[in-house]
Amino acid sequence: MRIPTWTEDELVLAGALVVRNGWRELRTTDRAVHELSELLRSLPIHGPEARALPSFRSPDSVSRKTTDFMTNHSSYSGKATRCGKLTLLMIEAFMTREAEMLQAARMLEEGVGSGDLHAIPPQPDEVDEAGHTAIEGRLLVRRALARERDPKLRSLKIEQVRRRSSTLKCEVCDFDFARVYGALGEGYIEVHHVTPLHVSGARETSLDDLACLCANCHRMCHRSRPGESWRTPTVLREQIRKSIQTPVH
Ligand SMILES: [Zn+2]
Ligand SMILES: [Zn+2]
Repeated sequence: MRIPTWTEDELVLAGALVVRNGWRELRTTDRAVHELSELLRSLPIHGPEARALPSFRSPDSVSRKTTDFMTNHSSYSGKATRCGKLTLLMIEAFMTREAEMLQAARMLEEGVGSGDLHAIPPQPDEVDEAGHTAIEGRLLVRRALARERDPKLRSLKIEQVRRRSSTLKCEVCDFDFARVYGALGEGYIEVHHVTPLHVSGARETSLDDLACLCANCHRMCHRSRPGESWRTPTVLREQIRKSIQTPVH
């Protein structure tokens, strides 16, 4: 079995290590490299066979990854090491959205340390049809999706919308399930967290953090594209407006 390539979650953690070290690589002998190696070997992302390989995310491989981060930074004057496209996207994310990416790393570290992230079962849409996940990584996506399925939050949000207006419809495209599907669609809507977890932090959810969306808009908010995070309903609405003006086909 081959060592699996690095995923978003793993790169978030390695990137944070490099950024905290002033964008300098870390040696195999560095204590932080050993700690990260251990953490990566414990993440519930790769299968048990991969994780059992002695060289899987060894201190050597972690140190090499920190070198990729350092030498592929745009201000590095020496020769860049060869690394995958995803690593390059991640370097760019750390360069342009440093605070957000460091927050994602902190949430991953805390969630793994407390055992919370190991306790959440894999969710159906945490990885998209092409195998991508949002830039903050699969485990934070997993946690956010699990949280959205909380039936209590869902019914509280629906109650709030009903109190404010009589119709339950998609906040992005106005789709109304009851109008189209009649009695079958009555009361159906999907509840979505507007701000990704790694941006909001692990705070208590308020009803205003939630949006009601139709199934299509919900899927499009969550669709993972390489190097991107989930988009908010506001951004999605803007994207619809633009694509109607300049159709792809
Ligand atoms: Zn919609
Ligand atoms: Zn959602």
